[in-house]
Amino acid sequence: MSSDRDTGESTGRELTEEASSPSSGLLSGLALRTLLLSLLLVGVTLGAILLALQAFGQYRATIAELDQQQNRGLATAHLLLQQTEGLVSSSSLLLLASTHFQRREAMFEIADRAEWVGRLVNQLAALRGESSRFDDILAVRQQLMANVAAMQGLVQQRIDLRAALSGDSPPSRASLEQLADVEMQLAAIIRDNRLLSRNLGISVGYHVTAMREQVQGTIDDLNADIARLETLLKASAVAVILAVLLLLGFIQFGVVRRLRRLQASLSHPHPLPEHIEVRGGDEVAHMGAAIRRYVHSINLNEQRILEMNRELNFLATHDSLTRLHNRHYFEQALKVHGEAPQDSTLCVALMDIDHFKAINDNFGHDAGDRVLQHIARMIRQELPDEVLVARYGGEEFALLARDVPLRALQRGLDVLRREIAATAIEVGPERLSVTVSIGLAQQQPGCSLASTVKEADERLYQAKDAGRNRLVAHSPRPSGNEVSL
Ligand code: GH3
Ligand code: MG
Ligand code: MG
Repeated sequence: MSSDRDTGESTGRELTEEASSPSSGLLSGLALRTLLLSLLLVGVTLGAILLALQAFGQYRATIAELDQQQNRGLATAHLLLQQTEGLVSSSSLLLLASTHFQRREAMFEIADRAEWVGRLVNQLAALRGESSRFDDILAVRQQLMANVAAMQGLVQQRIDLRAALSGDSPPSRASLEQLADVEMQLAAIIRDNRLLSRNLGISVGYHVTAMREQVQGTIDDLNADIARLETLLKASAVAVILAVLLLLGFIQFGVVRRLRRLQASLSHPHPLPEHIEVRGGDEVAHMGAAIRRYVHSINLNEQRILEMNRELNFLATHDSLTRLHNRHYFEQALKVHGEAPQDSTLCVALMDIDHFKAINDNFGHDAGDRVLQHIARMIRQELPDEVLVARYGGEEFALLARDVPLRALQRGLDVLRREIAATAIEVGPERLSVTVSIGLAQQQPGCSLASTVKEADERLYQAKDAGRNRLVAHSPRPSGNEVSL
């Protein structure tokens, strides 16, 4: 029993050591893994959202800028065309000028329009960001201005010629020819101006188209960026789904399944510590270790209680010192046999150690105990198992034999008595010789077992009185019914 307890305690120690493995704070095992997976999930989601927000912000800003740029560019181009047409029509005014005053007025307007054209060309160049490409427009403007200057001179000549011709009574042929020449030059300049104006319109149209293409290019770039972002967002969504699946898988396989296995082990009618799973070093493993420890201690306690019950049951019917049956059990047996139909032979013997008090007095109570245990062992070894042997009193034993002939029992008991007397019982350094006296009786027909016990007791007294170390049996025969050996 003590070795069992040792094993139990050592297993308990192992379990304690196993379970006392550190739970290493909050950031370990399940908590850490759940935190990391959640952070991953939050990180991926936040990253995707930030990416999308940044891209949309950029997209909005670019669209606004493009919108502004295109509107400004188109307005400038429109104004440029208007001013160029104005310049051409102003030159027509100049053509129609019949006085120097009208000519100067037309020239003022032409100068004003020419300045506007120059300014708008510069603006358009700044908007397009490449002034070199506007040389054609500037050249047209220059040509227009040169034509205007030439026109101004020709118009001035025409006014003067017409004034001179109106003064001459028959106009001179030379003046008329000169006037016709001036008119011809002016017509050529006007044609050239129209051509220049058309060319300017074409150039401006080209730049407007280029501007539109540039805007379209930027929009295409933006669309490509958006498509890239879309792919990235889809990848992020897949990553989030994977992370969620990972989290679910971890919860299912890393937590729920293990908890179910623990529950299944505990649902067993008699759970054993070795059936309780303790794998890894996370919280579930620590819980498993704690449950295993608990189950182990419960099993240990159950074992102890069972042992105690067994011992208590044993002590209810046995004597703790000699391990023989006790007097209570013997009396119960007498009762049972007494109530049963008397179809078998029943014999009762009482055996008392001689001068036992002297052993206690001379060698101590422990020595007396050792003698009692030794005598009990000898009785149990010598007599067959069918004979009930009980410790009846302090140093007194009672025997109940069924279906054993009195004579045979008498012989057996006498052999036992002699053996006891012949055996030296070792008690520490001492070797003691002990004798016993025995009273034996057989149940008489119609008599109770209690009276048989009384009979045996009387024979025991007779044996004591006769000098001890002897057996006195009550003979069933009516005459000479006592035999002393
Ligand atoms: P007799 O030969 O007349 O039987 O003399 P005795 O000394 O054997 O008988 P007595 O009745 O005078 O003494 C019995 C003693 O047995 C007294 C008691 O202290 C002792 N005894 C009773 N039970 C135990 C026990 O369990 N252990 C020990 N060591 N002694 C016991
Ligand atoms: Mg005695
Ligand atoms: Mg006695």
